[in-house]
Amino acid sequence: MNELVPNENLSRDEAAARSALLRVDSYDVELDLGDAANPAAAGFRSRSTITFDCAESGASTFLDFIHGGVDAVVVNGKAYDPAETVKGSRIMLHNLVTGTNVVSVEGTALYSRSGEGLHRFTDPADGRTYLYTQYEPADARRVFANFEQPDLKASFTFHVTAPSDWEVVSNSPEAARTPVGATRSRWDFSATKRISTYITCVLAGPYFKAEDSWRTTLPGGDELVVPLGAYCRASLAEHFDADSIFDTTKRGLEYFHQLFAYPYPFGKYDQAFVPEYNLGAMENPGLVTFTEAYVFRTKATEAQYEARANTIMHEMAHMWFGDLVTMRWWDDLWLKESFADYMGALAVDEATDWTNSWVSFANRRKAWAYVQDQLPTTHPIVADIPNLEAAKQNFDGITYAKGASVLKQLVAYVGFEAFVEASRTYFARHAWGNTTLADLLEVLGSASGRDMSEWSRMWLQTAGVPVLSVDAERTEDGTYASIAVLQDAPDPVSGEQMPRPHRIRLGSYDFDADGWLVRTGSVEIDVAGRRTAVPELAGKPVPALLLPNDGDLTYAKIRFDPASLATLLESLPRLRDPLARAICLSALWNSVRDGVLSARDYLRLVIRTAPSEPGAGVKQVLLDNARTAVERYAPAEIRGALREQLFTAVADQLADAPAGSDSQLILARAAAALGRHSTSHNELLRGLLSGEVSYPGLTVDSDLRWRLWQALAGTGSAGTEELKAELAADNTAAGRVGYTVAAAALPDADVKLAAWATAVNTAELSNELLSATIEGFNIGSHEILDAFIPDYFAALDTVWSTRSIEIASRVVAGLYPSAQDLAPHTVPADHPVLVLSQEWLESNSAAPAALRRIIIEAQDQLLRALRAQAAAR
Ligand SMILES: [Zn+2]
Repeated sequence: MNELVPNENLSRDEAAARSALLRVDSYDVELDLGDAANPAAAGFRSRSTITFDCAESGASTFLDFIHGGVDAVVVNGKAYDPAETVKGSRIMLHNLVTGTNVVSVEGTALYSRSGEGLHRFTDPADGRTYLYTQYEPADARRVFANFEQPDLKASFTFHVTAPSDWEVVSNSPEAARTPVGATRSRWDFSATKRISTYITCVLAGPYFKAEDSWRTTLPGGDELVVPLGAYCRASLAEHFDADSIFDTTKRGLEYFHQLFAYPYPFGKYDQAFVPEYNLGAMENPGLVTFTEAYVFRTKATEAQYEARANTIMHEMAHMWFGDLVTMRWWDDLWLKESFADYMGALAVDEATDWTNSWVSFANRRKAWAYVQDQLPTTHPIVADIPNLEAAKQNFDGITYAKGASVLKQLVAYVGFEAFVEASRTYFARHAWGNTTLADLLEVLGSASGRDMSEWSRMWLQTAGVPVLSVDAERTEDGTYASIAVLQDAPDPVSGEQMPRPHRIRLGSYDFDADGWLVRTGSVEIDVAGRRTAVPELAGKPVPALLLPNDGDLTYAKIRFDPASLATLLESLPRLRDPLARAICLSALWNSVRDGVLSARDYLRLVIRTAPSEPGAGVKQVLLDNARTAVERYAPAEIRGALREQLFTAVADQLADAPAGSDSQLILARAAAALGRHSTSHNELLRGLLSGEVSYPGLTVDSDLRWRLWQALAGTGSAGTEELKAELAADNTAAGRVGYTVAAAALPDADVKLAAWATAVNTAELSNELLSATIEGFNIGSHEILDAFIPDYFAALDTVWSTRSIEIASRVVAGLYPSAQDLAPHTVPADHPVLVLSQEWLESNSAAPAALRRIIIEAQDQLLRALRAQAAAR
């Protein structure tokens, strides 16, 4: 294993030096995966031949390759001794010539279980082996030697040897297939267009495949035909709704063709749903990979289908923004992610039948951004990314969700037409190239006729969430005497005020004859500075609810005026507009997190609002937040009572939920989640499992069964034998994950010790089973878990230095002891876990920044929770 080599962390300066020196023409990559199904085979043969131009005679540079041994390095026909040229994960190249150079590297690359590089998965259902690659930001080097940086684009030709009965797929179509011996074949793929290393991809295994195609007539009259493929594991094929995936795909292609006015540039469009995937999806051109959690093997809610459609659209937008035009370095990761996130929501809204895309955006994506942007580690959207470790951590709520929120605000600011025109110019001008922020601002400036530098400085180069509130004086006859919007926007580092320009809508809501809270008027204004008067509303009647940021145009936390807050706490279920309701709920949740609204008041609101909340996605978030409020933000002395209040409400609402509704399913899941810490409704949980309790239309399928078992295991109400019997009945990939969580949840010191030791001290677990083990471990009481706190801090250094960054991050973030209580008569900052965190940070100031970032964030989340507990006393 080469996990320990120190030179994996490529710096921005090194990358810049390399791209100043080189222009890469092409890669020819051969991978021998013929033996992949043999679990004893740790690695596979990899040969990479690279043709590139060098600007300087006699120059030196290096290739990246994280390998299990290099056998041959040949530079311009001359063989070099690997013992001398291979330095850890770098292969040194000397004596390059001006003009064309050809380098060939042959060696062994390793199969991965961390989801980084070439991941290998054995399906417990049928014992068959599946492989796929995942590279972003820099893991192509785990599979073949290359120049691993986004601005050294090249054309790639892949050749893969694999069992003949497998499907083998890559970015470009298969060009030839030749038998190799009796059972294997060699697939030769056609050369790709010029793309970056991190979006190359290979998929191999006995995958199930569905096919379709999409065609359109281009403006010049030519016909464009895009073959479509959809893949999943064979054992999931019966659950695979490829037709629905193709339907969304075709709508997306149609939509983006019209919007971007640039034909889809990568030929075919395959989408593969793969096991143990580290993220939602990856935009490899011609072969997008997705988490197979999107293959619904049990009943899923509309919100889950909508989320899948959103991901399909997000990845498709990347074909243009990210793949065709790529950021130069990871500082500008946001360029593609913000754009794709915004486009994902927009395309679902415009091109599919789902109507709540912007509600989900307000409800989930922005909530993620607001959380991240209030951590001490927050950063401007345009981030400083000095190296690859920093890049890996920047796939965060700022880069995706804040960036997309700010783009939404930009569209409100320059107008949609100008935004589209700028995008079209950008693709036409920079196709197949690399860009920076300046290139985007330039096209936006020309299209809108506005100077973008101030907007960019205020929104993209600052950190933190502005807070918008309303300062109003009312007359005796119930009209506004004066009204202004206040902005509080302290810079998180300097504390200095950084008020942003906002385009916002102020919505007035009043009760109609039937008692619904409906919009009766709105004004759209430009907010600038700390205080912006709204003369348009002076003299107008004061509404029951004044909603700042109606329509969710800008990115800001909002605080309601006292009368509006009172209206909401009383009558939120009467607010009919789904987006307005989502904005209000998001604002109220932010108030809970800020200790402004108590967990108790929030819980009361959720219990009253949830039954009438028609949106499955919003309802899910509400119930999740309510649980967080109880388990984290409520003081320990009232936690049990609040939990029972919520649990009873959920159980009652479940009994009343419409048959077969999403609501019913969400409530059943919420009951199982609450049952992890309470035995008061065990009869319900047990009854659902045995069938003694049933509700019309509620199928207690394998997913729900595992949730119920996890709850019972967590409180010691189920035993190992029962869990094993359930696994025997559901011996699938998902079943194994469900079992692993449940088995590690048992409240037994030996069980916890074993789970801890496996997760922390061994490399036995794949990424997904590691996370399942950690999830189960964390279901437990202080009596058992507190003993592990010192071990946690003692293990950090070793975990970080011996595991891949993906695995180490899961261990460090997942096992941080984040569920804590504030003891009576103590202050949050003195809590022992915070003290230990601080001590660790102080005595490990030289630890890798990426590791420190996880600890700083976990420490801050805990401090926030303890402060809310203190505020509620
Ligand atoms: Zn993306």
